[in-house]
Amino acid sequence: MDKLYKGIRRFQESFFKKEEDFFKRLSKSQDPDVLFITCADSRVDPALVTQSKPGELFIVRNIGNIIPRYDALKDKNSVAAAIEFAVLGLKVSDVIVCGHSNCGAMQALYKKNDEMDKMPHLRDWLNLAKPVKDAVLESFPDSPQEALQEITEKENVLAQIENLETYPFIAQALNESTLYLHGWYYEIGTGKMYAYIPNTDKFELIK
Ligand code: ZN
Repeated sequence: MDKLYKGIRRFQESFFKKEEDFFKRLSKSQDPDVLFITCADSRVDPALVTQSKPGELFIVRNIGNIIPRYDALKDKNSVAAAIEFAVLGLKVSDVIVCGHSNCGAMQALYKKNDEMDKMPHLRDWLNLAKPVKDAVLESFPDSPQEALQEITEKENVLAQIENLETYPFIAQALNESTLYLHGWYYEIGTGKMYAYIPNTDKFELIK
């Protein structure tokens, strides 16, 4: 924890002091254009990799950047609550779903359910993404595990975007072209970000 306390002091004495007016303006309201949904993994930092300032990204993070389908969790769906607020309240123009390399959540999909018995909440949460694993195994039955891993991470992004589209207000905003959805994939070891391009059906490097 000492490192964190030191960091807080360093932030207040340097960065905050230099940007005091900016933070004062920011204290009155937020008006982000982007809802950024990504994994809780400690190596993924949306603000850092997009060089965004506070106030620019409304961020939702959870294990495996999973978006439960509209009716999957009824009224106990914190992801849905954040999406409602971002899209209907803050009126963001873009939603990014960002997966990443070496995702422990996607690896865990391939573990047996009884290996997860000590973590029942995690097991149940990951079950929301089980259809992704089933579809990958069906399409790529002979792929080695390492290849399956990356395919699953990328297919999961696309599946979660499909889940987003089950929200009626998202479908409506897409129809009216007031909202755009993006599937991204972040490669930890290279710092590279890839975006899904529907025309080529591939994740292509963002340059
Ligand atoms: Zn992850």
